[in-house]
Amino acid sequence: MSQASSAKEVVVPGEPAASVRIGLLGCGNVGSAFFSMVTDGALSVAARTGISLEIGKVAVRDPSRFRGGLESHSRLVERLVADPWSVVQDEEIEIVVELIGGVEPARSLVLSALEAGKPVVTANKELVAACHAELLAAAEGAGVDFLYEASVAGAIPLVRLLKDSLAGERISRIMGIVNGTTNYILTRMSEEGIGYAAALAEAQALGYAEAEPSADVEGFDAAAKAAILAGIAFDSLVVSSDVYREGITSVGASDIDFAKRLGYEVKLLAIAEREGNDGPVSVRVHPAMVPSSHPLASVRDSFNAVFVEGEAAGELMVYGRGAGGRPTASAVLGDVIEAAHHLREQSRPRPTKRRAASLKPISELRARYYLSLEVLDRPGVLAAVAAVFGTCGVSIRSMEQVGLMDEARLVFITHTALEADLQATIAGLERLDSVERITCLLRLVDSEEPE
Ligand code: NAP
Repeated sequence: MSQASSAKEVVVPGEPAASVRIGLLGCGNVGSAFFSMVTDGALSVAARTGISLEIGKVAVRDPSRFRGGLESHSRLVERLVADPWSVVQDEEIEIVVELIGGVEPARSLVLSALEAGKPVVTANKELVAACHAELLAAAEGAGVDFLYEASVAGAIPLVRLLKDSLAGERISRIMGIVNGTTNYILTRMSEEGIGYAAALAEAQALGYAEAEPSADVEGFDAAAKAAILAGIAFDSLVVSSDVYREGITSVGASDIDFAKRLGYEVKLLAIAEREGNDGPVSVRVHPAMVPSSHPLASVRDSFNAVFVEGEAAGELMVYGRGAGGRPTASAVLGDVIEAAHHLREQSRPRPTKRRAASLKPISELRARYYLSLEVLDRPGVLAAVAAVFGTCGVSIRSMEQVGLMDEARLVFITHTALEADLQATIAGLERLDSVERITCLLRLVDSEEPE
């Protein structure tokens, strides 16, 4: 079975399911889980959806490598090919699933499939965040689906929630924990009182963090997801490089301890918000102090959760497994079933209107801040430090001093201030001889300044 039939197929009980042939690009963590779910669960998917999925070809870098642990290994082996173009260009392949990762060759393969009229499903956040305008245009030109639910927050149906369920909603803010690795590290630091390096080593030992962890701990992964979410929520063209980004590497156990004493948890947040009805969009990723009473504060370990605020819908939150082979493959499978239905019904997907985004720079953010610094423990230092805050127009709400031999650690919480003024304060502090180093900056996400 290869070509879409011209008559509309209606599935009635007892009717054979419509068969759709998939070409799979990549068979790693997600691809192998997807392969198993499709081959092992084909009958139940067909019974529930009326679509019978079969995988025609699977492209990998090295087809000769034994893919141990995969129960369906023998079924896989006969489908493996080394050339991904032979999958995309195969006339029998009707839907392409891209699970290679990275921008190239994924972008060229996806574009080629879309231009040939084949729907594409991907979990590749890097690709979607960098090229979604181009890929959506190609999909719309061909009248086929380009679906990417699994690219943000794994199994959590977040893209569909924003795109479909909340399609008529005026969203003001999305705030989420979208990187499981950093959430695991921060949870261990908070609950066990261990330092960043020890928590990272633990995450690496458990397979939550890569040996080279910068994509996660420096916030690149979360920034790509923030760009995708902001694009959908605000109908805007936002790419990863538009996202202001800070990672968690400067957060220490003492910062987390201090935050907890004040009633906060430290979380790496992806935040996208829009001012007013049609105002500029602010998209940023940074560690933040979240009040313990906020639902995001209790999201532990490697779980993800995203909090959405809409004008009519109010506040809602989705929570679940944000990564891992099977959770991600589950989201991929959902998209594949949707694309297969559209293909069989010959229905064009709803067009997506995206405008160039008017972006609000981080310097215009107004927030309360946590700032910790190490200073020489000698008379007059505190007065000099406080004078810098005053000169830059940043008002101090509270201050704590902890002695460290002949040094001291000063921790400040500010009143609401402009980010540009806070950055000027940091620059001024760095010029003081008595300031050894600025150790950590956190933004508080209180909606209102407490009394
Ligand atoms: P992975 O384990 O590294 O698998 C990548 C697969 O692509 C491998 O099978 C590899 O072949 C194949 N491949 C790479 N380059 C290729 C090329 N040029 N031609 C043909 N095949 C090629 O990656 P993954 O973890 O499954 O992730 C796949 C995608 O899902 C990525 O975009 C990732 O960001 C996204 N994602 C992953 C997760 C997760 O938890 N893993 C969660 C959400 C989203 P070999 O097997 O021969 O090396």
